[in-house]
Amino acid sequence: MSLNIVVVGSLNMDLVAYTARLPEMGETILGQDFQTFPGGKGANQAVAAARLGAGVSMIGKVGQDAFGQALIENLQHNGVDTQSIFKDPDRPTGTAVITVDSEGRNTIVVISGSNYRLSPQDVESCRQTIAGAAVLLLQLETPLETVLRAAQLAHESGVKVLLNPAPAQDLPDELYSLVDILIPNETEAALLTGLPVENREQVVQAAGSLLTKGAKSVLITLGRQGAVWVNASGSRFIPAFEVKAVDSTAAGDAFIGGLGCALASRMSMEEALRWGSAAGALAVTRKGAQSSLPTAAELKAFLAGNS
Ligand code: ADP
Repeated sequence: MSLNIVVVGSLNMDLVAYTARLPEMGETILGQDFQTFPGGKGANQAVAAARLGAGVSMIGKVGQDAFGQALIENLQHNGVDTQSIFKDPDRPTGTAVITVDSEGRNTIVVISGSNYRLSPQDVESCRQTIAGAAVLLLQLETPLETVLRAAQLAHESGVKVLLNPAPAQDLPDELYSLVDILIPNETEAALLTGLPVENREQVVQAAGSLLTKGAKSVLITLGRQGAVWVNASGSRFIPAFEVKAVDSTAAGDAFIGGLGCALASRMSMEEALRWGSAAGALAVTRKGAQSSLPTAAELKAFLAGNS
């Protein structure tokens, strides 16, 4: 399979304790269940694109521990090339320690661990892999200088750069100028611009402000309200598909995986936006993060039934 998408990003193991109620400070309680789930925005987007049929290679860093090995095996199981996953000898694999009570309320502690050891030099050693891709997917769960170096290498080789600025933080002007499609959700768009993003007009204004910073186009996702795509020639609203939502976890990762997969297959932007929306919609109909990501067959059947 040709490698047409490269993801530079995070891999985490989510460790979830299910309890009747959240413990008070200093209290020990007995929980009811425990499960582990592979996560991290980078890995989620890699799996999202691979399930939809793209050839995907992931560049990331795990620790030399059992979670790291399990995360690599999970990517392989989903058809993602893991030759560019590095192992850090000193830091543990990234984890998210999550407690969920019987009403679905949660507390979450993320320990980035080895994800923050992925260096610009690591990415440079994968220069050929990046140059050979059609699309590069980036998020902000690895060091900013690493994200910037990956974007520079992709840009130099004419690879389309998609940046999901999550978690939102101030970005250097140079990074904006290297991005073909900046994909924040509404909260991230508000944080990046300092502008309110509460109605359609404000969404278009925030996207316009991000274009001014240098991004070639901006796609702001709005959950069940859909998304708005803005470039120098104008703006376009992409309505969400109507589905029965069960769990919105990873909707954005599914959307980005679908969009990236379609663009890497040389579909038009219009068609790629439909793929993204369909992948996002299907993901909210099922529980979990990676477990909710659709396959190509599921997405095509959904699109055929919703044309
Ligand atoms: P994030 O998970 O990053 O916050 P969003 O919640 O904005 O991302 O969702 C990304 C995309 O997934 C939306 O633009 C939309 O196309 C789709 N989506 C999200 N929630 C729903 C929903 N309840 N029904 C249909 N589509 C949805």
